[in-house]
Amino acid sequence: MDKFQAPFPWQARQWQTLQQARQRDQLAHAWLIQGPAGTGKSALMEALVASLLCQRPDREGHACGQCRGCRLHAAGNHPGFHRVEQQESGNIKIDSIRELCSALELTRQEPGYRVAVIAPAEAMNIHTSNALLKTLEEPEPGNVLLLASSSPARLPATIRSRCQQLVISPPAHEAAVAWLSEASPETSRENIDLALDFSGNAPLAALQMLRDDFVATQTRLLSEWETLCMRGVEPVHLAGEWGKSPGAEVVIDWLIRISMSIVHLKTGAGRQRLPDEIEASLRNVAEAVDLNQVFLYLNVLYYYRSLAGTQVNQTLMLEALLIPWWHTLHWPLESMINADATRRAAAIWP
Ligand SMILES: [Zn+2]
Repeated sequence: MDKFQAPFPWQARQWQTLQQARQRDQLAHAWLIQGPAGTGKSALMEALVASLLCQRPDREGHACGQCRGCRLHAAGNHPGFHRVEQQESGNIKIDSIRELCSALELTRQEPGYRVAVIAPAEAMNIHTSNALLKTLEEPEPGNVLLLASSSPARLPATIRSRCQQLVISPPAHEAAVAWLSEASPETSRENIDLALDFSGNAPLAALQMLRDDFVATQTRLLSEWETLCMRGVEPVHLAGEWGKSPGAEVVIDWLIRISMSIVHLKTGAGRQRLPDEIEASLRNVAEAVDLNQVFLYLNVLYYYRSLAGTQVNQTLMLEALLIPWWHTLHWPLESMINADATRRAAAIWP
């Protein structure tokens, strides 16, 4: 097995589950592949598609790459393969789902598996999901629907309950370090730890971060955020800059890690693997903020995280998230001068 291709080492058990079901001819007709971003759900799904369309998979279920099924799939012409993707707007169109359902209906006599991929599944709104329900409820033998989602909670329960769940969890830290050190041999152990810490041990997310020069990005974010806390830059200005680069998603993930680190500094709870200089600058902020407010802030961050990449205005979202920090370090001072100002500042913490 090539450890740099799906199934990745941390997906071995899930792959086996699927292949064993297939060998017993008991493959569920719909699977919901879920797990944090950067754990390789899409790659696993592509490997599964190739495996199911192959006429002569090997003992572990990997596609042979030679047979007619494999060749048709590689050429993008396999009649039994369907892919539904999101539009530029971020949604999956109801018409795309209707087309998929009739295509599956039309090809149900074809031999072998008919495989459909719907990703990201949470891009279906309630009406689009309803259009899929009949196909989920009355499965044809040989049809396999693969849905992937990083935010399965945003899917209607009617969809979730009709799919077999396949949860991809990030590997343990040391296993993730071992994989990432081989995937990115030029990176120092310190930066590997840092990238894994910020990505929640999701190896592919960490690898992408390192390729995107994450270490430089994180140094920049930290220094600009410190300036914000010292009121050296307006939150609206910074939100505009960060919205352009590195983008709301990266910033929100970063704010989550920073907030978690502040919780750690205040309580000693949780894992902490931040370099000394980052910890030193966080310590000042940690002393100035109230623990309850950090927990409230984390809730808001997780909520906004689920909206990143949607049509919600990303810059406005960042403004709402940065304004509290602009007030944070001056609360005690303000409360001495003007109780009203403190109340106003407190109200901004959502
Ligand atoms: Zn094949």
